[in-house]
Amino acid sequence: MKLDRVLDFAKLLLERAVQQGDITVDGTMGNGHDTVFLAQLVGETGHVYSFDIQEQAIHTTANKLETEHLQKRCTLVHDGHEQLDTYITGEHAGKITGAIYNLGYLPGGDKSIITQADTTIASLEKLFDMMAPEGIIVLVIYHGHPGGEAERDALMHYVQNLSQQKAHVLKYDFINQVHSPPFLIAIEKR
Ligand code: SAM
Repeated sequence: MKLDRVLDFAKLLLERAVQQGDITVDGTMGNGHDTVFLAQLVGETGHVYSFDIQEQAIHTTANKLETEHLQKRCTLVHDGHEQLDTYITGEHAGKITGAIYNLGYLPGGDKSIITQADTTIASLEKLFDMMAPEGIIVLVIYHGHPGGEAERDALMHYVQNLSQQKAHVLKYDFINQVHSPPFLIAIEKR
């Protein structure tokens, strides 16, 4: 057999956590791959809230969704994920079953614009309260770029100290590779 690569494992977890009609979050929209994936999982009756601070990400993702006829299922927010409670309100808050954050910089974009530990953690704290029981938050942690190590270390400290009464936290990591490959953290709300 072949072990699931990190991004494949992220998808597998989300496929298992998210049903048609569910509410989901893409915390880092980027080029829209995860937003499209989540939009397919939630079906016509579900919804994806997707966040990015870069205009370029919104344009690229909007175009992808239009091509796939998925735009009605998605709200693309041009704002930081740390503001997510401003955008996800009412009956959708508390009903989120799946979320993904692909951290780091926008592939093909400005490599100096990266996710930062303080805003990522602020976002996770708000999101955790809005998750449904057994909902899953997947973090794909890239740490090979300048600034990546600091975010990794702060995030690891944060997730390792989440109360085990509130969450199960998993690390999925290929441990014999060179060049700082990304690894995955999954947080299951109990
Ligand atoms: N998931 C994306 C995809 O499918 O292409 C890749 C995401 S990329 C690795 C990281 C993205 O996070 C960048 O587009 C960057 O602009 C965005 N970002 C950085 N800080 C952010 C913040 N505070 N809130 C939301 N997005 C942020």
